[in-house]
Amino acid sequence: MTNHLFDGLFYEADPTAPFAVLPQGRTISYQEVFDSSAQLAQVLIELNVKPGDRVAAQVPKTIEAVFLYLACLRCGATFLPLNTAYTAAELAYFVEDSGAKLLICNPENEQAYQEISTATGCRLETLGASNDLGFADGSMTERAAGRATQIVNVDRDAGDLAAILYTSGTTGRSKGAMLSHDNLLSNAQALVELWQFTRSDVLLHALPIFHTHGLFVAVNTSLLAGSSMIFLPSFNLDAVIEKLPDSSTMMGVPTFYTRLLGDDRFNRDLVAHMRLFVSGSAPLLADTHVEFEQRTGHRVLERYGMTETNMNTSNPFDGERRAGTVGFPLPGVRVRVCEAESGSEVLQGEVGVLEVSGPNVFAGYWNMPEKTAAEFRSDGFFITGDLSRIDEDGYVHIVGRSKDLIISGGLNIYPKEIELALDEQDGVLESAVVGVPHPDFGEAVVAVVVPSSASMDPDAVLAGIGDQLARFKQPKRIHVVEELPRNTMGKVQKNVLRDELNDLFSTN
Ligand code: AMP
Repeated sequence: MTNHLFDGLFYEADPTAPFAVLPQGRTISYQEVFDSSAQLAQVLIELNVKPGDRVAAQVPKTIEAVFLYLACLRCGATFLPLNTAYTAAELAYFVEDSGAKLLICNPENEQAYQEISTATGCRLETLGASNDLGFADGSMTERAAGRATQIVNVDRDAGDLAAILYTSGTTGRSKGAMLSHDNLLSNAQALVELWQFTRSDVLLHALPIFHTHGLFVAVNTSLLAGSSMIFLPSFNLDAVIEKLPDSSTMMGVPTFYTRLLGDDRFNRDLVAHMRLFVSGSAPLLADTHVEFEQRTGHRVLERYGMTETNMNTSNPFDGERRAGTVGFPLPGVRVRVCEAESGSEVLQGEVGVLEVSGPNVFAGYWNMPEKTAAEFRSDGFFITGDLSRIDEDGYVHIVGRSKDLIISGGLNIYPKEIELALDEQDGVLESAVVGVPHPDFGEAVVAVVVPSSASMDPDAVLAGIGDQLARFKQPKRIHVVEELPRNTMGKVQKNVLRDELNDLFSTN
């Protein structure tokens, strides 16, 4: 027996090699990762954490948080990272729903979360993080220091749960996606091979680590490859620009790339030695892709995944990275495009809902057997809810979420098609198209547009797309905003737009 994911990730790790360079300049070696995670695992075991117990953590992005993730793996617990932006009320739901044994928080929230602990019976602990003052805070990190640096990892199989990640819940209640040891390991293996990560890579890590992108795609891939990371607490433009010359790869959400392009210091020289920029979590505009290449000579590699499935598709490392597409299925992953209702495959090139199967696909939603059953086909394919099409060369295009589908006058309208047309118009920086209740049509198409220049004329924009799109697809209104609402992963929050515009056509 082994501890499937941990053993897999540390396979061939060189203890003397650097794993992370912290903001203050301290370097953490692989040996230190190994030792510190063993020490923290002992604290977890003393807190009576048993294999399979959920350990919830809402902690800032520090290297100790990475040790905690690994410590959970080592003692067989299920790691449950939580967005640092969640309020106490939101947190109470996650703790209650998951039945977490332990909630680990930042010392400054300890007081505020006491009530959750009392109400749910979940023990409250703080993690603490390295700083110049040491750990004199009673935190788990302080208690872990000085312990033995060896433990025997608790046996775990491929199918045992390694983590539960709650979906971002931009529609409906957040659901806990159960991810097995092998879901995570198989995906890291596929990515290391595909993106050609090696020990000599240095990943610029500016993503949050409560999400699949920053935690699993970035950290697991680095661990498995034996490479190192420059571990920034968040995306700070100055810090990223300062550290790019020391890095070889970067993983980012599209807003990282648009923000870099908005800065004059970001040029060819700064990234001359970089070997790979990866983008995901939200669509990268084709324009951004093109501008990035013009500015830097690099073609961003866009990939596509989700909390429930880890990564599904990726543009090729060696072949053509095609703007506006998310590439091909990863090795071992199968995708198909189906009609939402019948589940039958659509014709080549047509739009439908993307379905996925493979070792990356999660085990279901925690405590939601009916929801789980509704989102899997009988042959094991998971219904992603992403509308997509596969072009004649096999590249997958994501054209929106099925929940974003607009039905106006009984006709199906895919917002992405309209957004692409709008984005090409003079004076339009970007756009988001939503369906808004309408007395005649059921839903009406409304375009929310961010202008790139003050002179943008909504009528000219509408006229510009007039001959590109059938009349029923053309927006009934253009709503001008300075900025689209986005969540921390860069996703446009269409639910926020829909709420704001809900009464636009109301007759009351
Ligand atoms: P999350 O579970 O928070 O990672 O969100 C997953 C969703 O993000 C997917 O279902 C897609 O709708 C979207 N997404 C992720 N990567 C991409 C991408 N490269 N292009 C378009 N949408 C993406």
